[in-house]
Amino acid sequence: TLLIDSKCINCDMCDPECPNEAIYMGAKIYQIDPAKCTECVGHYDKPTCVSVCPIDCIKPDPAHRESLDELAEKYVRLMG
Ligand code: SF4
Ligand code: SF4
Repeated sequence: TLLIDSKCINCDMCDPECPNEAIYMGAKIYQIDPAKCTECVGHYDKPTCVSVCPIDCIKPDPAHRESLDELAEKYVRLMG
């Protein structure tokens, strides 16, 4: 899972690009739902939110580190 840090300027570039609809507006800044973020595994080669963020404030979430296999399993679960 990735994490949006406090530098986020709420530009809304990332939200519509997420293939898992994992990004939402939180109390102050945009946030990522760890239950839905596959780091784009199953969809793209690289995290697309990171590619579109103009200020590079999306980083790996130290509280939610997952292997490639775990991310792929989450992708399959989400696709149901
Ligand atoms: Fe969505 Fe991919 Fe960003 Fe995760 S890495 S929040 S799945 S766009
Ligand atoms: Fe925040 Fe970056 Fe998303 Fe813009 S693209 S809302 S700055 S995380």
